[in-house]
Amino acid sequence: MKYFRRDFLKKTIFGIFGVSIFGGLMKTINANKNKNKKVKFTYTVGDKHWVGDGFHVHGLLRPSEELNKFISPFILMDYASPEAFPKTETPKGVGSHPHRGFETVTFAYQGEVEHRDSFGGGGVIKPGDVQWMTAGSGLVHDEFHSKEFCAKGGVFEMVQLWVNLPKKDKMSAPKYQGIKDADIPNIKVNDSTQIRVIAGDYAGTKGPTSTFTPINIYDIKSETSEKLSLNLKEGTNTILLILDGEIEMEENNYKKQSVLIFDQLGESIDFKTSPNFKGLLLNGEPIDEPMVAHGPFVMNTKQEINEAINDFHSGKMGTI
Ligand code: MN
Repeated sequence: MKYFRRDFLKKTIFGIFGVSIFGGLMKTINANKNKNKKVKFTYTVGDKHWVGDGFHVHGLLRPSEELNKFISPFILMDYASPEAFPKTETPKGVGSHPHRGFETVTFAYQGEVEHRDSFGGGGVIKPGDVQWMTAGSGLVHDEFHSKEFCAKGGVFEMVQLWVNLPKKDKMSAPKYQGIKDADIPNIKVNDSTQIRVIAGDYAGTKGPTSTFTPINIYDIKSETSEKLSLNLKEGTNTILLILDGEIEMEENNYKKQSVLIFDQLGESIDFKTSPNFKGLLLNGEPIDEPMVAHGPFVMNTKQEINEAINDFHSGKMGTI
């Protein structure tokens, strides 16, 4: 009864005075609040390196003491910027290798990737498709340009992202989600901007991907120069990769192949696109746990890394 009365009183006071007395005060607080997320780090990586003989990539995100706090749950991102491959009879790519403790996510923009893993997952991803592979307790897989692409040759463009798993899910069963372009909702914003919701939620529209921690991934395209405002929860991490065109944000200009890493403070990012802008936005709740990344394994301790190496060598992650 006591609690009821207190709650009732609180409600009544706010009900009566909320607007007249607290209204002014609340406005001041809101005005002082850092509403926009600010860019904390930005860089471009001009150099490319080969992953196997099929993926010529800019290494855009790497685990580091300085960055981890602001990029978690994302760990690593490679961008194979557009590059022409001649036709070939020998498939180009990366042969059999293991992973444990996280998810590898491949976004196909141009060209095709074929994948198979030791747990029966596999398939071809084509432009607009996304492959979301949960390595979990461990698997072995290979990643090659598809046979059809190799036979014809052509321009190849992909992004591969590594997404961390929380400690409680690191040893979960491997899983494969082959997400087709047609399954990804495409939302029209303003006159010429389209946002494809790959994971999470954009203004009430949900993406088809199932994730272990809260994650939003948007593939954004603008044909003409337009202003965009994206609401992203305070306390979450946000990364924008500019794939094409450029953006203007708070009197700064960011060009193609820039990575922008934002502060956790603030609830939105606002920017103006150039014509023919193309970007990939990653947003997620940080996983606040120790992380040890070693080659293809991402665990919480060194001991677990050693276990992963032993389990791989003793065949526990399977073969293909
Ligand atoms: Mn791999």
